[in-house]
Amino acid sequence: MSESQPVPSPAVAEDPVERLFDGVREFRDNVFPERRERFEELAKGQNPRILFITCADSRVVPEMITQTEPGDLFVCRNIGNIVPAYGEMMGGVSAVVEYAVVALGVTDIVVCGHSNCGAMAGLIRDPAKLDNMPTVRSWLRNAHAARSVVEVLHPELEGDDKIQALVEQNVVTQLQHLSTHPAVAAGIASGRVELHGWVYDIETGSISLHDAAQGRMVPFEESQGLKRKANA
Ligand SMILES: [Zn+2]
Repeated sequence: MSESQPVPSPAVAEDPVERLFDGVREFRDNVFPERRERFEELAKGQNPRILFITCADSRVVPEMITQTEPGDLFVCRNIGNIVPAYGEMMGGVSAVVEYAVVALGVTDIVVCGHSNCGAMAGLIRDPAKLDNMPTVRSWLRNAHAARSVVEVLHPELEGDDKIQALVEQNVVTQLQHLSTHPAVAAGIASGRVELHGWVYDIETGSISLHDAAQGRMVPFEESQGLKRKANA
C-alpha cells in the first residue's frame, strides 16, 4: 500500500457486518456492564406492559422514540405496521397479538405508522412496481380498506399529502383489525386493554395520536392538553 492511499479508519467499519460487530463489541464492553443489574433481572423473565406494532422501516426505532428500556416493549414490526383482521391471515402478527394479550397480559397496544412510509406510497404510486413482489402486494391488501377511505374522504389529495393521509388512515384501519382478534376484543370489553394509534414523523421526531372522539390525528402536545382538560 502506497503512502497516498487512505488508511481505513478502524472506528467506522465500511463493511455493514463489520459495523454490526463494532456495535456488538461496544455493547459488550461498555453498554452492558453499565446496566448489568437490569439485564440480570430481565434474564429471569419479561413483563412488558405494552405491545408496540410498527413498520419494519429502518428509520423507526420504537425504543429510541419512546426512550424505553429492554423489557418495556413487546415489539412487532412488519411492512406497513399491519395487523390482518382475525381469520384473514393466521400468521406471525396474529400470534404476537394473542401471545401479548393472553400470555403477557399487556394493558396497551400501540399501532405506530410513520411519515414517508414506502408501503403506503406503494399502495398509491405505481402499483406496477409491486409486480415482482407478489408477497408484498398480497400483504398490502390488508391496507386496501384504508386506501378506499382516503380516496372517498379526500379525493382532492395527491402525492405526498395523499400518502400522509393514507399513513394516518392505515393506523385507524389496523386498530379496527386489531379489535377483531378475540383476545383483544375481550380485553377491550373488560377494560383490561386499551388501543392507541400513533404516527411518527421522521423529519421532526414528533408523534401524533389518534383521537377517536374527534376522528383525527392530534399532535402530541395538543393531545396532552386535551388529557389534562379531561382530567381537570
Ligand atoms: Zn413504513
